[in-house]
Amino acid sequence: MNDAAFPQAHTSIALEQGYGAHNYEPFPVVLVRGQGAYLWDDRGRRYMDMMSAYSAVSHGHAHPRIVEALRKQAGELAVTSRVYYNNKLPLLLQRLCELTGQDLALPANTGLEAVEGALKACRKWGAKVKRIASDRVEIIACRGNFHGRSIAILAMSTEAQYRDGFGPFPGGFRTIPYGDPAALEAAITPNTAAFLVEPIQGEAGIVIPPVGYLAECARICREHNVLLVCDEVQTGLGRTGRFLACEHEHVKPDGLILGKALGGGVLPVSAFLSRRDVLGVFAPGDHGSTFGGNPLAAAVALEALSVLVDERLAERAATLGRYFLSKLAEARLPLVRAVRGRGLLIGLEIDTSRVSARAVCERLMERGILTKDTHETVIRLAPPLVITQNDIDTALEIIRNTFHELADQSAERPIA
Ligand code: PMP
Repeated sequence: MNDAAFPQAHTSIALEQGYGAHNYEPFPVVLVRGQGAYLWDDRGRRYMDMMSAYSAVSHGHAHPRIVEALRKQAGELAVTSRVYYNNKLPLLLQRLCELTGQDLALPANTGLEAVEGALKACRKWGAKVKRIASDRVEIIACRGNFHGRSIAILAMSTEAQYRDGFGPFPGGFRTIPYGDPAALEAAITPNTAAFLVEPIQGEAGIVIPPVGYLAECARICREHNVLLVCDEVQTGLGRTGRFLACEHEHVKPDGLILGKALGGGVLPVSAFLSRRDVLGVFAPGDHGSTFGGNPLAAAVALEALSVLVDERLAERAATLGRYFLSKLAEARLPLVRAVRGRGLLIGLEIDTSRVSARAVCERLMERGILTKDTHETVIRLAPPLVITQNDIDTALEIIRNTFHELADQSAERPIA
């Protein structure tokens, strides 16, 4: 360990705290390098990444093919705006549509931005195609959802903290319980344009709906001429063991939102994809984004998609996820109430009467594993999909030891 580097860590933290808005509460580690499933801090300590930047780094850090695509395109042409055609975006749009079976794609940058595009397209489809009065169009979402934190998206949120102080919110949204198709059917009115749903609720704590849920929602939506829009920003692109999580139920949604891993772990790249009649409602000027679809992002996303296919990352997530989940269940970890997941999107529900989920994450960090609690009760285990079984075995050993140690210590008094 390099003690001389210590002040540097403190400087980075102090500067961020001093000059940045405090809308995050980072763990006290200053990361300087990443490779594959590993990260290094400024003291040279190595960590296994079990967060993957909320699944944005599914390909692993600094994937050589993706970094090369980034470097090459950056030297040729990076940003042009959509005022002109470029030679990379069309290839990405075509590839995305071919891989997902959708007809049209709207490129954007962040997940939130693609969700906004989806909401606008669904509303306009409701007004112009379904012929709902334009001030009446409704979109249904689920309780516990996470689709981002813009003001329109927060209109659908059921999370008090996300909304507190940020109103008033636009109308036209309804929320229903997650995992309950009957609630969807009951909530649909002639004014309903779309149902927006995550195949697995990631930020809510890796909440997996009952088997058949999505397929039943698809049937209900079809019957009522309501668009089924799946937000796969977190679950898509291999994370759950399939290219798309909705494939687990053989569902092809009417609209699909992708982000995070689409940027190959190096850039923000997202997209809303849909049937021709949905995105077909957009006319020039209806919607736009200066950086959306820039050639640099398109080249990176194209390479990210190729790597995903060539390295069979979805199959890897399925096999390694099954292994990781079964070993975690076998380990009968103390302080853990439930283990759940699909592919390499795994959650450990913590007995927070004895230890806070944050304290578990801090202890894991000291032992060389980086992860994050969600909703203060669930710890996410979502490594890059390039992780090896050996790495997972190492992680399992650390996780087992950490929980036993914390259980012993919390036997006397809870650990905050
Ligand atoms: N949708 C889902 C399902 C997400 O998990 C997230 C981010 N956690 C978003 C949308 C928003 O993505 P971004 O942070 O890139 O705007």
